[in-house]
Amino acid sequence: MNVADSEVVQSVMNNNGFAMTQTMENADVILVNTCSVRDNAEQRIIGRLGDFKHYKKQNPKVVIGVLGCMAERLRSKMLDENVQTINSVVDIVVGPDEYRKLPQLVEEAFEGEKGIAVRLSRVENYDDIIPFRADGISAWISVMRGCDKFCTFCVVPFTRGRERSRTVASVVNEVRELSERGFKEVYLLGQNVNSFLDLETEKDFADLLSEVANVDNTVRVRFTTSHPQDMSDKLIRTIAENENICKFIHLPVQSGSDRILEMMNRTYDSNHYFKLVEKIRKQIPHTSLSTDIIVGFPTETEEDHLQTIAMMKEIGYDGAFMFNYSPRENTKAYNWEDDVPYETKTRRLNEIIAMQKEISLQKNQQLIGTTETILVEGESKKSSEEFSGRTDGNKTVIFPKANLKAGDYVNVKIERANSATLFGSVVSES
Ligand code: SAH
Ligand code: SF4
Repeated sequence: MNVADSEVVQSVMNNNGFAMTQTMENADVILVNTCSVRDNAEQRIIGRLGDFKHYKKQNPKVVIGVLGCMAERLRSKMLDENVQTINSVVDIVVGPDEYRKLPQLVEEAFEGEKGIAVRLSRVENYDDIIPFRADGISAWISVMRGCDKFCTFCVVPFTRGRERSRTVASVVNEVRELSERGFKEVYLLGQNVNSFLDLETEKDFADLLSEVANVDNTVRVRFTTSHPQDMSDKLIRTIAENENICKFIHLPVQSGSDRILEMMNRTYDSNHYFKLVEKIRKQIPHTSLSTDIIVGFPTETEEDHLQTIAMMKEIGYDGAFMFNYSPRENTKAYNWEDDVPYETKTRRLNEIIAMQKEISLQKNQQLIGTTETILVEGESKKSSEEFSGRTDGNKTVIFPKANLKAGDYVNVKIERANSATLFGSVVSES
């Protein structure tokens, strides 16, 4: 999502006479886009600002801006010379709904004036701004902004504001332009894409997906994130019926314990989730499923943790993003004691990471002997003789280069697998 936002920012800046440079030494302006979802994301930014402090001593004219969620969350604190960690290195602070003001704020900062713009908007969706993208194979497209769910652990509704969707027409136009430029994969992004609603036409996310899929059937369509509460039958049918909508669903469950799910305000229980997965697997056979899990939420007991383990085993996810609970200011859970000791959180996290690694390995090994259609992405990181690409189910595959190029589709027979990667040989160009 931040990659997509940075492309909007780049477009706004380009339209006002700025251009990107590849080396920091050539920069008049340095902008950092930020994430506040967990404390360690913020700590990394604070570390980076520390580096910029040294740089700015030698280059006092350079303007440094902090963009995105952390700007929204910390606001004027980021400009405060008394805040030790940040310590006056920042010139401008711009929240996620104020990027149109950036060029003006930068010009003012050149004159020595610090600037801040952090109002959240109910309507800003940058629908008319074509994000700046270098040519490539895959593109990220933000189709909606904000979130209205208010899960009790999550800072997003406070840093990104209310939920609002773009129009189907503008997303479809963007996809058409990308297809004409040779892109082969689009990722539709939103915190909860299932509640996408084009207010002008009343089209929902299933309508958007099928219109995007119809633009060019050689362009793969992916999307994230689906909230388990709102996944409609129509959406499941749409995924099943369109060949170029990838059979890969990221469906964050967060916990296997109903008591914890209720405290998290996730608005579903494990029974609802199991039934949903059953329905998805029946209607979309061979679909890959991934999830997000938080361990050590306030009051989480060993019993709750075992329920999460049982759920992960029963579902058998292809992949999972797993996190220690991180208390976030303003959220409801912030008022509750963060009572699971750090060591317990980390032990629980390591347990589920190790278990998921085993499950991912088994899932990947089941693909040995099958032939998968791969979208070639580019050279493998480890060898210039090999390409890397992904299956429809989002698994990375490494295979010999043959006469292929990035953007080609190719059929690869899977011969070997570890928990993260598949290896195979080219059968034929698709
Ligand atoms: N909108 C998406 C998730 C956005 S944040 C959804 O609802 O699924 C991505 C992931 O970060 C979440 O799914 C959650 O697992 C994790 N996360 C969010 N807030 C967190 C916190 N306070 N501590 C730890 N993990 C958190
Ligand atoms: Fe955060 Fe919940 Fe919204 Fe996802 S659905 S962004 S976890 S509040």
